[in-house]
Amino acid sequence: MTAAIAREVVMTTRSPEETRAAGRAVAELLEPGDVVVLDGQLGAGKTVFAKGVADGLGVTETVVSPTFTLAREYQGRLRLVHVDVYRLDHVQEFLDLGLEDLAGDDAVTLVEWGEAVAAELPAEHLEVRLDPDGTAAGAGRDGPEPEDERELTLRFRGPAWLRRIDAVRTALTGTA
Ligand code: ADP
Ligand code: MG
Repeated sequence: MTAAIAREVVMTTRSPEETRAAGRAVAELLEPGDVVVLDGQLGAGKTVFAKGVADGLGVTETVVSPTFTLAREYQGRLRLVHVDVYRLDHVQEFLDLGLEDLAGDDAVTLVEWGEAVAAELPAEHLEVRLDPDGTAAGAGRDGPEPEDERELTLRFRGPAWLRRIDAVRTALTGTA
C-alpha cells in the first residue's frame, strides 16, 4: 500500500492554553538553525504559539511580542530569536539585515507575519498558520465559530522538516 506523503498537519485548538501546548510540543523537535514561520491575522494566536515554543525550549524569561523592536532574543536549550515583521519599517529592516545577520545559524528563529517576507525566508522551514475561521470542527455547523477555536495548519517545507513530520504529529497528540 502506498500513501501520499503528508506534508501538513492540521489540528484545532479550543483555548490559548491548547495553542501554547502545541508550541511547546513543536519545540521538542527544534534543532539549531530552524526557522518557524507564523502566519494568521491579528489576534490569531501567533504570539501565544511563540510563547509555547519558548516554554518548550526552557526559556524562563517572559516572551512578549517584539512590537517596538524587530527581534527579541531568549536563551533556552537553544537560542531563540523571535521576529515580528508586522510593522512596515520592520519588514524593511528585515530585508536590509537578512535572516542570517539577524539570527545566525545556531538559533531557532520564529518569524511572525512571515508572509510579508516570504521571498526572503529559507526554502526549508516550518510554516504554522493559525486561522480563527473555518475550523474543521466548525464545518457544517450553523452560526459563528466559537471565538476560542483556532485551526492550526503546520506545513513541512524541505527535507529537514519532512523527516520530522511523524515526530511532530506524535508530539502534538494530546495537546488539543
Ligand atoms: P497574534 O500574535 O496572532 O496577533 P496573539 O497571540 O497576540 O495574536 O493573541 C491571540 C489572542 O487570541 C489572545 O488574546 C488569546 O487569548 C486569544 N485566543 C483565544 N482562543 C485562542 C486559541 N485557541 N489559540 C490562541 N489564542 C487564542
Ligand atoms: Mg503577535
